[in-house]
Amino acid sequence: MKFKLLIDGHLVDGVASLDVINPADGKVFAKCARANSEQLEEAISAARRSQPAWARLNHGERRAYIERLCDAIDSRHEEFARLLTREQGKPLQQARAEISGGMRRFRYYAALDCPAVVLRENETEQVIQYQSPLGILAAITPWNFPFSLLVSKIAPGLAAGNTIVAKPAPTTPLTTLLLGEIAAKILPPGVFNVIVDANDLGQQLTSHPDIAKISFTGSTETGRKVMQSAASTLKRLTLELGGNDAAIVLDDADVRDVARKVFDAAMLNAGQVCLAAKRVYVPTKMLDRFCDEVVALARDTVVGDGLDEATQMGPMQNRQQFEKVLQLIETAKTQGTVIAGGYALDRPGYFIAPTIVRALDDEADLVKSEQFGPVMPILSYDSLEDVIDRANATPFGLGATVWTSDYRRGVEVAKRLEVGTAWVNRHLDLAPDVPFGGAKQSGIGQENGIEGFKSVMQLKVLNVAKSGTP
Ligand code: NAD
Repeated sequence: MKFKLLIDGHLVDGVASLDVINPADGKVFAKCARANSEQLEEAISAARRSQPAWARLNHGERRAYIERLCDAIDSRHEEFARLLTREQGKPLQQARAEISGGMRRFRYYAALDCPAVVLRENETEQVIQYQSPLGILAAITPWNFPFSLLVSKIAPGLAAGNTIVAKPAPTTPLTTLLLGEIAAKILPPGVFNVIVDANDLGQQLTSHPDIAKISFTGSTETGRKVMQSAASTLKRLTLELGGNDAAIVLDDADVRDVARKVFDAAMLNAGQVCLAAKRVYVPTKMLDRFCDEVVALARDTVVGDGLDEATQMGPMQNRQQFEKVLQLIETAKTQGTVIAGGYALDRPGYFIAPTIVRALDDEADLVKSEQFGPVMPILSYDSLEDVIDRANATPFGLGATVWTSDYRRGVEVAKRLEVGTAWVNRHLDLAPDVPFGGAKQSGIGQENGIEGFKSVMQLKVLNVAKSGTP
């Protein structure tokens, strides 16, 4: 079998195999190794054995390992991108961008140091604050950005001196396994391990007493289970969860320009983005024009196999999500008016036409839940106070966007939104040095930036009396 698990530096077959489906045709295109509970236990043991030596390396030594890993991944960039498109479905251009973005993050953390801070140093005492690794990190990822979200966890984790057990989503395991195959030749055995499951090993991994931290990206529902599992040994947690981001168009916005940007914010990766624009609020007086613009964009979008360079939007990643989004669309037809799309494409694979719905009220299912598909509900508003209240009336708090010709007005609105990231006149600017995380039930903690680095380390204080007497 080509795609093997990585345990203790060895590429190994699983006790079973897992079919991987190309969502563009619904057919199995690869098989990969699937682990059982004993193999997960072996991976955790390997990570435990290798951790002290990895942590003892200095920053420069670990950096050299990680840079070599980055060079090896970069030399196979196109192979990664094509594999990502085949397992995930996204257009090749977006797959290439995901790999490049992930690699920028990898190199950012390889270079980042977190030096000790001397709080007090005098004749009698020395007090130093520094960061040490946590131990073993479990990196659990979803199926929408399998490569870049993995890197957000393992890059800071490895750079800080932790060892890793990574577990991708069962429908998108291949890019993670390819990374494991490359790491097997570069990193010391046990430092990085990859396990693939069929959604059946998460609980064992997240409750294991040897795991110091869980870095999890996925749904809010699974996030709650992870938090419960982690409680028995008080594990550190970063939870990057679901969202229902509002996009607020202000009454001074250039409708044509903003319609394009909001459409892209909603439809990127066929809407399968945690921070996609999932509810769009437009002033009543601009509603018809805005709708006309986005309907035209929806109709012009080239939907198809991501491997075709002309494709602008790919399929839903898996059958379950495909059916869930179609069900939401059916309900939306009874609660509002579908003005573009509203159907699955008549071809193999999990394709849904870009769909625009208006005349929904705030209680409609499509407005209240996370659709995670190419479906944009458009709502109208008349007062700014009202729209801010409605944008905040959700248990989610991942991100939001504000669109305006006067960025200062946009900033005033953005400050009042209860979210982890509020963008004004832009979206998806996820640079490696900018922390990202959710407010409310969209998550706990941050990834990226210094905050992401500190989240995989233990702050430790060395407090010394030089005299030798208390
Ligand atoms: P999911 O929660 O179903 O699965 C995520 C991962 O958790 C998978 O690897 C899965 O195998 C694993 N898992 C399943 N049960 C588990 C358990 N009991 N314990 C531990 N792990 C378990 O999510 P998904 O459907 O793969 O991804 C879509 C969701 O992810 C959406 O809600 C989306 O908003 C969210 N997401 C959030 C962010 C963010 O940064 N906030 C980014 C991307 C996706």
